[in-house]
Amino acid sequence: MMEENFLMENSFYSEEEVKKTAEELHEKIQKTGFSLDECIAFAPLILEINKLKKEKNAVILAHSYQTPDIIYGVADFVGDSLELSRKASETKAEIIVFSGVKFMAETAKILSPEKTVLLPSTEAGCSLSESITAEDVRRLKEKHPNVPVVCYVNTSAEVKAECDACCTSANALQVVESFKEDSVIFLPDNLMAKNIQNQTKKKIISWQGLCVVHKKFNAEQIEDVKKKYPGVKILVHTECSPSVVELADFSGGTSGMIKYAETHLDENFMMVTECGLSDRMRVELPEKKFVGTCELCPYMKKNTLELILQVLREPKKEQIIEVSEEIRLKAKKAIDRMMETKNFSD
Ligand code: SF4
Repeated sequence: MMEENFLMENSFYSEEEVKKTAEELHEKIQKTGFSLDECIAFAPLILEINKLKKEKNAVILAHSYQTPDIIYGVADFVGDSLELSRKASETKAEIIVFSGVKFMAETAKILSPEKTVLLPSTEAGCSLSESITAEDVRRLKEKHPNVPVVCYVNTSAEVKAECDACCTSANALQVVESFKEDSVIFLPDNLMAKNIQNQTKKKIISWQGLCVVHKKFNAEQIEDVKKKYPGVKILVHTECSPSVVELADFSGGTSGMIKYAETHLDENFMMVTECGLSDRMRVELPEKKFVGTCELCPYMKKNTLELILQVLREPKKEQIIEVSEEIRLKAKKAIDRMMETKNFSD
């Protein structure tokens, strides 16, 4: 009864509409541990966000590390950062709400300057992106003249603007190899730089950035899971350390990890990355088992349905992503250079 009152008092939607939305969501996300009561609490927010989205001609992008209520309740596209920004740029939407972290929303703005790009949580940063500034890159270039600079997509627009090429976790090696020089500066992820160094003859000059999520995984955890689930396929994000990547059946970015799980007939998979991806897989590949441990990204989890609703209703200045045209054009050049790389993939 209390629940009914809550719904009646706090939403414009009928009990029937709320119940239907909650049941549909619960059907999808129960495998990730959400109860029907939790879905009933989400439903009025989901209904209101989806109504506003149409009224305002907005599109909602959700990174795979977002929570299931966002991904399966309100997102129009789910995926990794660059893939999402590219898809959003192809839509006729006037507003992009990026449920992800700041550098992702900036990337969307770089590719869609005519659209309004909104970031629900202003606290959604990234330890990699924040490890380096444009000034740091300029200093590195002074120290290593004529050495091309490749930056991982997890960087600010200002940092991208200082680089020769951008890359994703899926194509980092290809982009590095596409330069004729014997040395390449790769930033900001120190562990990804080490993983690339293990696969190329070029000298990789790295930076000291680390992902607070992926640096936590260790070889012992993987060995334990292998013992417990013989034959388990280990899929590792390349932001992990080389000792973890070494134990992988597949290593790459989130899209590659999803593709591997989709196309391999094995029973058990361990997704060595943020917990959101295993949750997504539990929903989308219910016939397969996703085992072992995962880690939560404190930045990614700052976004909530409440914040998405607020940013759609009335964005605060700090939630509106702005990139100056000078920085945008330079950063876009680095992204375009990646796209031109032979066999581009993201
Ligand atoms: S998972 Fe790591 S790389 Fe991704 S946003 Fe969080 S801190 Fe940044």
